[in-house]
Amino acid sequence: MSFQNLGLSESVLHGAQRMGYSEPTPIQLRAIPVILTGRDLVASAQTGTGKTAAFALPVLSKLDHPEPQIRCLVLEPTRELAMQVETAFRDYMRFMHTEVSLIHGGVGYGKQKEDLARKCDVIVATPGRLLDHMQQKAVDLSGLQVLILDEVDRMLDMGFLPDVRRIVEQCPKNRQTLLFSATIPEEIQRLSAWCLRDPERIEIGATFTPAETVNHAFYPVAVAQKFELLLALLTRTNFDSILIFTRTKDGADRICRELKKNNHSVVALHSNRTQTERVEALEGFKAGRYEVMVATDIAARGIDIAGVSHVINYDVPQHPEDYVHRIGRTGRAQNVGDAFTIITAEELPHVKEIERFIGQSVPRLKLEDFKYFYTAIFNEAEAAASLKAAKGVRTHKGMRFGSRRKR
Ligand code: AMP
Repeated sequence: MSFQNLGLSESVLHGAQRMGYSEPTPIQLRAIPVILTGRDLVASAQTGTGKTAAFALPVLSKLDHPEPQIRCLVLEPTRELAMQVETAFRDYMRFMHTEVSLIHGGVGYGKQKEDLARKCDVIVATPGRLLDHMQQKAVDLSGLQVLILDEVDRMLDMGFLPDVRRIVEQCPKNRQTLLFSATIPEEIQRLSAWCLRDPERIEIGATFTPAETVNHAFYPVAVAQKFELLLALLTRTNFDSILIFTRTKDGADRICRELKKNNHSVVALHSNRTQTERVEALEGFKAGRYEVMVATDIAARGIDIAGVSHVINYDVPQHPEDYVHRIGRTGRAQNVGDAFTIITAEELPHVKEIERFIGQSVPRLKLEDFKYFYTAIFNEAEAAASLKAAKGVRTHKGMRFGSRRKR
């Protein structure tokens, strides 16, 4: 099946061709015809499936001639994703005269105000800053034809759904609405019932299956040796570029500092860094100036970085969905990538949840010649039993042991 038969406009086809796309991905095959008919759509698909083009190509085909109206609004949870999606639109519309503009926080209002006043055809925005502009009456959405809510599960995690609702309330009723989310929990079903009309539903693959091109491994270790093991993994792995995930922003900064001391070219990406620093980090990592990037989930969610050969989870993700998203950073577009997760005894319940979620058990590996301290995680059955016992024991103050997790 080629892009030619899907009903896309000539200039958009040309743009996709220029990007080197020869065949549509499964989500593109299914979503493009639906979007072209004007129907609402709820699609569950992981990042890395080509979902940006799945919505951008048909929407742009419908906006072939520029008009002085904001006709398409895309909401994204993070600045990085918004930038990435805006770039994708720019790439696909390079043979068109339509315009796209980016609205997000952390930068000045001036240019954004001008773009909004000029009524670019497509606006890609994060909810908070767009609402600011809306409150200042700087946004005219009366000509809006298509509203795209992307990465909605992440917007939910970040507490953005009330903002999203306030924005939706100001969009014209006779619009087309497209909702993309890796998972569709109840809150998102409610949102969808509220803001979509009789949507077509598309689910691509088993939503929870990690990319098949990723090799996974768990590396058990004592808490005190986590960093030492990370260093050993870096030394022994033949990698092009590595993305390391930590649970907290402080954790990301700490690992970044320690890796620098050990002569790695490394940069951190998280939401406490300034917008300029975040752009520099991402650009530097993409360009190969940094071989390692240490990031928190939220900052790195959905980021498309070609050639990430390895992902290392320094902390076990607390939500199994995050495991799938994190390792989705590697193994994109058919390249085989490796995903390592450092696991400690306390994290065992999350480890088990991940395996249940992805429906496979992940091999436990030990590095040869690494001087391991003993840890209960080397005998998981015993570690699980003692964790369970500890959780059941109450102190005289009524606190549960094991209810606070140390990381
Ligand atoms: P996304 O899931 O939208 O983040 O896209 C993941 C990556 O796949 C991006 O680098 C896209 O440029 C690329 N991509 C999207 N569609 C295609 C296609 N039909 N053929 C090849 N690459 C594609």
